[in-house]
Amino acid sequence: MHQVLIVGGGIHGTFLSHLLSHHLGITDHVVVDRYAEPLHVWNRHTTACGMSHLRSPSAHNLEVDYRALRKYAARENWPATGAFVPPYARPSLALFNDHCRAIIRERGLERFRRRATVEAIRLHEDRVEAITEAGVLLARTAILALGREHALCVPEWAAGLPEGRITHLFSPYCPQVDSMQPVGSAQSDTTAVAEDLVIVGGGVSGVQRALVESQGRIVTLVTEKPIQVRRFDSDPCYIGPKCYQRFLAEPDYVSRRKMIVEARYPGTIPEDLAAPLQRAIEAGRVNLVIGRVEMAAMENPGGYVELLLSSGSTVSAGRVILATGFGRALPPLVQQLGEAACLPRHVDGFPILDHNLRWHPRLVVTGIPAELELGPSAPNIVGAINAAKRIVPLFTRPSPQAAAWGPLVRVLEPAVT
Ligand SMILES: Cc1cc2nc3c(=O)[nH]c(=O)nc-3n(C[C@H](O)[C@H](O)[C@H](O)COP(=O)(O)OP(=O)(O)OC[C@H]3O[C@@H](n4cnc5c(N)ncnc54)[C@H](O)[C@@H]3O)c2cc1C
Repeated sequence: MHQVLIVGGGIHGTFLSHLLSHHLGITDHVVVDRYAEPLHVWNRHTTACGMSHLRSPSAHNLEVDYRALRKYAARENWPATGAFVPPYARPSLALFNDHCRAIIRERGLERFRRRATVEAIRLHEDRVEAITEAGVLLARTAILALGREHALCVPEWAAGLPEGRITHLFSPYCPQVDSMQPVGSAQSDTTAVAEDLVIVGGGVSGVQRALVESQGRIVTLVTEKPIQVRRFDSDPCYIGPKCYQRFLAEPDYVSRRKMIVEARYPGTIPEDLAAPLQRAIEAGRVNLVIGRVEMAAMENPGGYVELLLSSGSTVSAGRVILATGFGRALPPLVQQLGEAACLPRHVDGFPILDHNLRWHPRLVVTGIPAELELGPSAPNIVGAINAAKRIVPLFTRPSPQAAAWGPLVRVLEPAVT
């Protein structure tokens, strides 16, 4: 029986595994993930949209020391230009990933990983059983760090169109950047080329992919609303105590949900993407179409996909990429556990957790399903750090000497209450 079993070895699960093993000495833990490679989903999603820099600051990284990424960049001689961009020294994806790989390698985190899919979890008084295709794993405590891969938002109009013609940007089947060729059009025919690749969704991932693709072709970007600029994907006030304390002081989960919705800015782009997008539009490389897609149909077998917009106009596409983000569906494991074990849930099905993110004495939850406790930044890297602050006291006793623990203070200092 393991002391801890983490389901999900993405950003959250890997950060917790690092913290447990290296900083708290809990080497008797296992990270179960359906993919062999650590951070597989993070790598796939960020590559798919062609992102160059993170939207979050360098302080949000997989080390407990918030300066670790900057120290790493200096140690490894990353060039000053491009490695970080203002504001808040946002790291390049290449640097962030390199730092993650170094942590995983240097701390030997691969040894804790086991490749399997957890199909069900059974809770007992003295243990947790995780049922996988490869057998049953036992642990004293389980932590769910499941991410959102299961919850791709695919609009109704897209149903029934062939996968070869329409793909969600975050689907494992979405072609990698540069591998797509314009379908059936001559480069000299500007209209036909413009209609070849259509990206639906004007948030950060759609705009990033459109900018990358537009270096070799004309891309149509269909967005429901005019492009909206916001520095972060949620209100940064919730990262600090001011808003976070107000959030936690709110006993009514309906009000907490309202605060989360108001603090999130889905479908927005940061300032530094707005200027290149404007330039690409002016140069005619990105054809920006504002309108809501109502219906889609194949013109003829093997032909173009016709998108009918709310304005009444149509857009023809050789291929459509949906940059429509994620929906609200909870991971199947969370849904199944909530029902089977009658665990406390809000009216929308989201877990109601205690201060240490426990849904049951032997079950801890992080990421989006923990958002009614963690707040708007729950899915982000800082969400993993905030979750760790709540979870660590379950495995250790912070002492008044905590300040002497150096960088560990970042997670061992008392969480906001
Ligand atoms: C394109 C993109 C860019 C982003 N940029 C930023 C950014 O700049 N800054 C920031 O703070 N956040 C960013 N985020 C948000 C967030 O940090 C990422 O989504 C991050 O990957 C979330 O980590 P996670 O561990 O919750 O989920 P994931 O990284 O998705 O990991 C979850 C893991 O759980 C596994 N899993 C799930 N269910 C099971 C099961 N039943 N059995 C076994 N394994 C299972 C999955 O296979 C997966 O490997 C970004 C998100 C996206 C999509």
